[in-house]
Amino acid sequence: MRYEGNIFRPPSEARSYILQCTVGCSHNRCTFCSMYKDKKYRVRELKEILTDIRMAKNYYHDLEKVFLADGDALAMENDELLQILDALYQNFPSLKHVGIYASPDSILNKSLEELGQLKERGLTIAYLGVETGDEELLQDIRKGVSYDEMVAAGRRIREAGILLSVTVLLGLAGRTPKAVDHALNTAKICNEMNPDYIAALTLMLTPNSVLYRRQQKGEFELPEPFEILEELRIIIENLDVKDSEFRSNHASNYLPIKGKLPDDKKAILALIDEIIRRNDRNYLRPDYMRGL
Ligand code: SF4
Repeated sequence: MRYEGNIFRPPSEARSYILQCTVGCSHNRCTFCSMYKDKKYRVRELKEILTDIRMAKNYYHDLEKVFLADGDALAMENDELLQILDALYQNFPSLKHVGIYASPDSILNKSLEELGQLKERGLTIAYLGVETGDEELLQDIRKGVSYDEMVAAGRRIREAGILLSVTVLLGLAGRTPKAVDHALNTAKICNEMNPDYIAALTLMLTPNSVLYRRQQKGEFELPEPFEILEELRIIIENLDVKDSEFRSNHASNYLPIKGKLPDDKKAILALIDEIIRRNDRNYLRPDYMRGL
């Protein structure tokens, strides 16, 4: 398979064939992120993508899951995305899942009708990096949208019938009292979207990111592991969603959790409370086993 640069995908797409449709991220400005700093954003030629699909057909013969990379493949023209979806479903009779990373801007740049066409032709799930529901923090991390725009983007995906998976980022407010607002407002923004999946990641700083440089200058401090758990607890306690699956099983997290909300809320909170009460790092994933 042909790939340009490092390839990223959500943990739940581990068994998916990754089809690189764009190179890099169309936004590429978030202060905590260095995933695509080495790439200049561009949309790959459609004929190259269709050739990749034929190569995958020769190699795998059939596929059930495909993930469209890189950072923001939804930014492509709808007509091209529809041709890609058609080629995938024509080539792989068992295909039943096509996922995509979607920035809030690329969602809002598409009409509900366009998103509905993508759903009709087989786009099943969009992964939206919400990160925080705190308006001030959203601006500080240069996410590129306001709270209201983020909510509108998430709702438009759901309205189109596409599954919505959002990621929120623990530790993003640093070791400050603002962390409580970050957690409360993150629960609030999730409540307004009612995503099908909510995935919590824990902030890890990588060289090349703005936030890493701020940390080096002493302007930003990462929270301690049990402070991260307090944030996680506040988020879950304040989530009021229906039929939403919550996961913190990404390798960056200290405590892997998986449960359906609201049904498992009590059990999840009881688990977090018990771990906080024990205050023992042995119950948490060690730092050397954490990763992005
Ligand atoms: S977090 Fe997402 S939108 Fe922001 S720069 Fe990274 S890939 Fe792009």
